[in-house]
Amino acid sequence: MAFRKAYNNILETIGDTPLVRMNKICKHIPATIYAKVEYFNPGHSVKDRMALQMIEDAEASGQLKPGGTVIECTSGNTGMGLALACIVKGYKLICTLSDKQSKEKMDILRAMGAEVYVCPTNVAADHPDSYYSVASRLNKEIPNSFYPFQYDNPGNARAHYLTTGPEIWEQTEGKITHFVVGVGTGGTISGAGKYLKEKNPNIKLWGADTYGSVFKKYHETGEFDENEIYSYITEGIGEDILPKNVDFSIIDHFEKVTDKDGAVYTRELARKEGLLLGYSAGSAYAVIEQMKDELTADDVVVVLFHDHGSRYVGKVYNDDWMRDRGFLNDRNKSALDLVNK
Ligand code: PMP
Repeated sequence: MAFRKAYNNILETIGDTPLVRMNKICKHIPATIYAKVEYFNPGHSVKDRMALQMIEDAEASGQLKPGGTVIECTSGNTGMGLALACIVKGYKLICTLSDKQSKEKMDILRAMGAEVYVCPTNVAADHPDSYYSVASRLNKEIPNSFYPFQYDNPGNARAHYLTTGPEIWEQTEGKITHFVVGVGTGGTISGAGKYLKEKNPNIKLWGADTYGSVFKKYHETGEFDENEIYSYITEGIGEDILPKNVDFSIIDHFEKVTDKDGAVYTRELARKEGLLLGYSAGSAYAVIEQMKDELTADDVVVVLFHDHGSRYVGKVYNDDWMRDRGFLNDRNKSALDLVNK
């Protein structure tokens, strides 16, 4: 039996995550459906991959120098990946987060040595208090600082082109027909998707979007419609900007998923598959449910689950939190009972 080798540092454990077949939650769908379970990364999310890539690109280009400070606006997972890279490589880290992010994410970042700025969610991206503007201002004020800006940084998508895409291709022995993934910065779908489409242009890329985000309408009409923008609860996916890392030209379809469906399916994935995942996982899975009529018994679907559920214990995994938002309607019913109804 081959065991894993010893690693020189925690960064070497990034990637090579398992592909796990889902058997129960999707038994009514004819296709074979696999989960790419990204919480096996050391920072418990897919974002470790791109965080390391962006840091190493900046070192190579001279944008990041010894003793430097990394500043990033992040929903938390990129911050965790950056924290790992900064600890191992000896940089300071400042993260700006929007106030809708879970307290667990903020506490974890602080525990990993990052300085955290909490910024209001309900302001426009160009407002001086937005988490983008605060990061940009700090970058101008702090000497020897580097602002990766994951939305437009090409290292983000490239990390997935170099690692996530090839892993999925190998793990499915080239049989994958559909890749389903939540879209935030777009790095995951665009990078892994580009690799997969180069291997087989017939592979379909389906993105999970939220109500309150601009992606789906822009993809279908080319119009950036500000009326599409309003606040929502799902974390990590959907945007009020058009990141350069979203390659709209290779994405076949976006599905919008409600906050409720994302939350309820997240609970169901835990109960039925033993996958304790973050909130966006339920949204990504909901895309398969919403699109199931398009799938046949010959299809091999890979859905990528971005992060671990530990950061959401006070949220989707808390029945009171779910009930307060109308996601559980009856005191005696769990999320699972609701789904099974
Ligand atoms: N889910 C979660 C939990 C995330 O943190 C992110 C990153 N914003 C995404 C999905 C979307 O991934 P990407 O930024 O690569 O599109």
